[in-house]
Amino acid sequence: MATLQKVKAGDLLVGRLSHGADLLEELTEICLERNVRLGRIEAIGAVQEARLAFYDQQKKEYRFLEIKKPLEIAKLVGNVSIKDGRPFVHAHITLADERGNAHGGHLAKGTVIFACEFILHPLEGSDLVRQYDPETGLPLWGME
Ligand code: ZN
Repeated sequence: MATLQKVKAGDLLVGRLSHGADLLEELTEICLERNVRLGRIEAIGAVQEARLAFYDQQKKEYRFLEIKKPLEIAKLVGNVSIKDGRPFVHAHITLADERGNAHGGHLAKGTVIFACEFILHPLEGSDLVRQYDPETGLPLWGME
């Protein structure tokens, strides 16, 4: 059974991230500074290097993939919810290399921004709180 709630759209935030900063950390910082507890994120741009994760469903653990070269951010899409009492960004990213080949996965710390334009869409509704889900081993949204 799916879990869901109705939310209202807040005012959009649009901006540019810092050259050389960590992509996931800077998006998280913006949510903390602006007190965005629920929302959606999208972004395009380029990274100097990337660190992605793939969730091994059998072992119930993330495997990490490092790509140590410049890549285009063809698409970043993510959401903001609450984990461990604070805003938490969960994002997936598709990156394109110099040949147009795509790499993708769960965005992990260690992805360094070259340039990045983002749209952060805060949503108004009940907090979505991440809780350990024994079926998947992941911190998924709990609904009360
Ligand atoms: Zn993920």
